[in-house]
Amino acid sequence: MLKQQLSGTETGWWFVCHNGKMWLPKGNIPYGSAAQWKLEGEYTKQIGEWLGKPVWLICKMMANEMLGIRPLLSQDPKLFQLAGRAVQLALFLHSHTFCGYCGGKMHLSHHEWVCICNDCQQRYYPQIAPSIIVAIRRQDSILLAQHCKHRNGIFTVLAGFTEAGETLEQTAYREVMEESGIEITNLRYVSSQPWPFPHSLMVGYLADYKSGTIQIDPSELVYANWYRYDQLPKQLPEVGTIARRLIEDTVALCRIEYESK
Ligand SMILES: [Zn+2]
Repeated sequence: MLKQQLSGTETGWWFVCHNGKMWLPKGNIPYGSAAQWKLEGEYTKQIGEWLGKPVWLICKMMANEMLGIRPLLSQDPKLFQLAGRAVQLALFLHSHTFCGYCGGKMHLSHHEWVCICNDCQQRYYPQIAPSIIVAIRRQDSILLAQHCKHRNGIFTVLAGFTEAGETLEQTAYREVMEESGIEITNLRYVSSQPWPFPHSLMVGYLADYKSGTIQIDPSELVYANWYRYDQLPKQLPEVGTIARRLIEDTVALCRIEYESK
């Protein structure tokens, strides 16, 4: 669906994406001319800039070195964000070849990232699924849990997807109650992070414990407990994730209150 065909002289960063994966020869994002990377004839569209040079999206499955983009997070969070944009847009184009209403062929608008049906003119925007992520503090402790979906055993905060017709705040109260049996209060927005696995937007909050005892939902959590801010488990989310930031923000709040005494 991309319309600009490469002659070979174009230069910049080549974000070649397919099915949530990106072409990373020797672990790096290809930089240079299109010809240098044998990309002449491919179709592309510029999706941003990195270090002052254009970032080009190409939707294609290369024969090898198609890798997940997660390791880019520890390299540089901004680069991870751009790579996330690229894989999400590639996935969007791949899944919108035909119209869901009438089955007609779709095309990408010249002006914005929207696929339009050639027959019925229905418009489809890239899907973005909001989810909340919340760090809960109880005096000098933070609630950390091991999630069923994390196979590496890390201890992290609670999270969940927003349902249709729900506000982000309602999602936070509901998810925490469902997963842990805890009622929260004093919910405060902190920050957000696009999470392209495959198309989430994590909306981060801090909250305080209000009532209840921990009762985990075994379909979501393996284990959950309160951890004193200076005795946290070793396996925490990696630096650069919003989960890590929320944990560190909570630790900082505990320090202010408990280390001055
Ligand atoms: Zn249609």
